[in-house]
Amino acid sequence: MKALEERILSEGKILPGPVLKVSSFLNHQMDPDLIMEIGAEIGERFKDEEVTKILTIESSGIAIALAVGAALHVPVIFAKKHRTSNVSGEVYQTMVHSYTHNVDYTVVVESEFLKPDDNVLLVDDFLANGKALEGLMELVAQSGGRIAGAGIAIEKGFQDGGSNLKAKGLRIESMAVIDKMDENGIIFR
Ligand code: 5GP
Repeated sequence: MKALEERILSEGKILPGPVLKVSSFLNHQMDPDLIMEIGAEIGERFKDEEVTKILTIESSGIAIALAVGAALHVPVIFAKKHRTSNVSGEVYQTMVHSYTHNVDYTVVVESEFLKPDDNVLLVDDFLANGKALEGLMELVAQSGGRIAGAGIAIEKGFQDGGSNLKAKGLRIESMAVIDKMDENGIIFR
């Protein structure tokens, strides 16, 4: 998506990790027009898949997931990172390793929101090593539902999450794929 690539080039900052910081339009301050455009494009790519639910992880995936849900007119669920007092009853849960914080955490979805007849589209802001998506896939597996695929805003194509998950049969649609990023700049696929 050209508009997203242009914003990454003009406002993205490369931090050690490597981590692409896009806090001015996606991860802290949010540009609603751009995020709705990303949601519409992901929705367009999956419009024939009979998606019944969108699933993301809090917190940075939520805005994009909501935009996709608005495009496809289906409910949006975010996996919660901790079991809190307002999570009650039966839950699906699994561990996920955080790329940006380098810690493991538990993600939880109440079982009433994911059912065996659901066809779930996974959504996230970034795809790096694929741990976040694997965690979401595990939650859907626990529910007995199907996975329609994954819609991603920014895939770091030089890390192996995308290729590993595609090799396992997951359809991934990324709105911007970065092949290289270093002090010389950012190269898109
Ligand atoms: P993965 O689980 O695929 O290794 O990493 C994806 C998750 O880590 C995303 O949910 C995202 O929040 C975070 N992440 C990974 N790489 C980056 C990055 O370069 N920039 C930002 N802002 N977040 C990232």
